[in-house]
Amino acid sequence: MRAVTVTPGTAGSLSLVEDYPEPATDEGSILVEALAVGICGTDHEIIAGHYGEAPPGFDRLVLGHESLGRVLEDPTGTLQPGDLVAGIVRYPDPVPCPNCAVGEWDMCRNGQFTEHGIKALPGFARDRWRIPPRFAVGLDPALGRVGTLLEPTSVVAKAWDHIERIGHRAEWQPQSVLVTGAGPIGLLAALLATQRGLAVHVLDLATEGPKPALVGALGATYHSTKVDQLGFEPDVVIECTGAPSVVIDVMCQAAPTGVICLAGVSSGGRTIDLDAGALNRTLVLENNVVFGSVNANRRHWDMAAEALARADQSWLESLITRRVPVESYAEAYTPGPDDIKVVLDFAA
Ligand code: BGC
Repeated sequence: MRAVTVTPGTAGSLSLVEDYPEPATDEGSILVEALAVGICGTDHEIIAGHYGEAPPGFDRLVLGHESLGRVLEDPTGTLQPGDLVAGIVRYPDPVPCPNCAVGEWDMCRNGQFTEHGIKALPGFARDRWRIPPRFAVGLDPALGRVGTLLEPTSVVAKAWDHIERIGHRAEWQPQSVLVTGAGPIGLLAALLATQRGLAVHVLDLATEGPKPALVGALGATYHSTKVDQLGFEPDVVIECTGAPSVVIDVMCQAAPTGVICLAGVSSGGRTIDLDAGALNRTLVLENNVVFGSVNANRRHWDMAAEALARADQSWLESLITRRVPVESYAEAYTPGPDDIKVVLDFAA
């Protein structure tokens, strides 16, 4: 069967293998036919050789952690043949650490977790894959092909879950949210913010292309200014750019008691001038919280499924700006100027 693979650590090693072995039964009892996988910045980092790890005993890693498939067989009866399904990305570490032991593998403390298509587990960019019932998320058939958005939405659902848990340390009545970066994560974070009835602001450099209209369609306000020119202090910030100056600027801009969630991963290696004392003063005197957020556990996947089911399906569809058949995989992994989410289609 076909599989899109890389040799981790080797830039330019992306290739479509035509005779990849069928998934072994010890990968899980549910056998799934791949429909599509979404592509994100992590895939690009793996392809560039900066990230990623092959499963033990293998040289190559199958890519793909944003999955959508159709169940072929499930002897456990958890799902039925024909059901739409997505696979949870991260599996708990084998020790397990206190968080993995209770199913909070997104908060793994010893780094021994594994991740499909990223770290020591084959990804979902192959014709068929297997998954244990505990890591299979059944999708509402109405979601259809936007189901590939479940994984990025799970990441955002986790960010919101933790923002709210932190917010409840005191009286929690947020009014406004600033999302920096209008890529898929930023737009989905804005969607979940509008579902909470908050005043949503999205900041991005782009003045052309689909982003301003997508933000407008949510009833949110689009800004392409600098953070310190926004003219208001947000109660919540979800930072999705990972750009060092934006990261620092949002920490200074947040309202007193504001919660700043860092969800963008910086590439590192770029330094900026920073008055650390002034930043410290702001954070302390305003009781601000800055925290990082990655990945998602089963609860967040379920929250994400609910959020997608409530959303306008045509808006979700318009986040997917390119669908590329698997035979043209190299095109799919080549970034285009107006891309938001690119999806590799196995079923085309
Ligand atoms: C994925 C997460 C994963 C993270 C780090 C992201 O692209 O969405 O599930 O934990 O990369 O590997």
